[in-house]
Amino acid sequence: MKCTISGAKCQILIGINDANCFGIAVGETDIANSKQILTIFRMQINLRSFKQKVRHHQKAFKKFLGKIEKNPPRHLDKIAEEIDAEVWKEVDCLSCANCCKSMSPTFTNTDIKRIAAHFDMSAKEFKDKWLYFDEEDSDWMNKKQPCQFLDLSTNMCSIYEVRPADCAGFPHLKKKKMVEYIHVHQQNVEYCPATFKMVEKMMQRFS
Ligand code: SF4
Ligand code: SF4
Repeated sequence: MKCTISGAKCQILIGINDANCFGIAVGETDIANSKQILTIFRMQINLRSFKQKVRHHQKAFKKFLGKIEKNPPRHLDKIAEEIDAEVWKEVDCLSCANCCKSMSPTFTNTDIKRIAAHFDMSAKEFKDKWLYFDEEDSDWMNKKQPCQFLDLSTNMCSIYEVRPADCAGFPHLKKKKMVEYIHVHQQNVEYCPATFKMVEKMMQRFS
């Protein structure tokens, strides 16, 4: 998760309500040339609108992903790489943070040692304070949601430099073997606007 909009240029807000948008796009105005040039086109995520879209489309999206998993199209990994780049030009994680608000990362033992050391705690103290062990999947998970390390006033991670590897890789859109992550996308499409956008773009490419 990175800051996506920076710099001192004039920003304009454009309301977009079409079927392909979760909220508002942000662009820049080239005042010298008296014309608007959208040099940044990242969506400010409106989670309420996103959830409505999920209700309408998740069944079809999951079915589509299931087909891709069973019968992967040629060059799937290369196409996924291209789509990943497109998605991150459009989606602004700092206006969303839905993963940190409604999901838990899995913490590996290496993550736990690193983050505990950051707080000058032992691994046991860290686990006792914030985590529980999910017996079913043998994973350490957050006890609470939103994640205790999310700054809700900014949507920023307060332990960004030492965050769990799972957070650093989320939502795993660009993997060497995408087909091995289809089940992950099937789950995440309900929570993650970037995953949703990726599936939407794949459906356009493969229809
Ligand atoms: S849920 Fe997806 S789009 Fe939202 S912050 Fe997390 S990775 Fe970004
Ligand atoms: S550790 Fe940071 S990136 Fe990971 S869920 Fe918590 S706030 Fe989000």
